[in-house]
Amino acid sequence: MREKIFCAYCGGKLISKMREDRKRLVCSSCGQIVYENPIPATAAVVLDDKNRILLVKRGVEPCRGGWSLPGGFAEIDETIEEAALRELAEETGIKGKIVRLIGVYSQPSPQYKNVLLVGYLVKALSSNLSPSDDAVELRFFDKDSLPDVCFEGHRRFIEASLGVKPRGKY
Ligand SMILES: [Zn+2]
Repeated sequence: MREKIFCAYCGGKLISKMREDRKRLVCSSCGQIVYENPIPATAAVVLDDKNRILLVKRGVEPCRGGWSLPGGFAEIDETIEEAALRELAEETGIKGKIVRLIGVYSQPSPQYKNVLLVGYLVKALSSNLSPSDDAVELRFFDKDSLPDVCFEGHRRFIEASLGVKPRGKY
């Protein structure tokens, strides 16, 4: 994760200080404390009528070129459920409906350090696939022929949905 150097509010230099019993970055000019928190992100499990699971081949880092569940980061003005459906639609063209929460997993990340991954089972309301820039390929996989899947949280959501845990990194 990249180090923050300047205060986002006043441009003052950030220094590391003890605040609330831990080291935090504090603005040397206005005193603003920089709170670093896990970033909320979504992952959607979409199954077709043959119980095959939709995976996307990633066009972006981390794990570029690897397969993962469709998903991404929540925006500030949406609920986490809206984020899951928006990211699914953006990456795959599929309009969906939340069926249920699968689980929540704290996913270590090379770029963001710690991502709070929220997994949903989603019912597809449309079936025509149209990959976006973030996804270079979309494919439904049978649970007996899953490829390696990026991110431990995604693998756990798949295991919770299909009873099979794929291999993979991150
Ligand atoms: Zn400041």
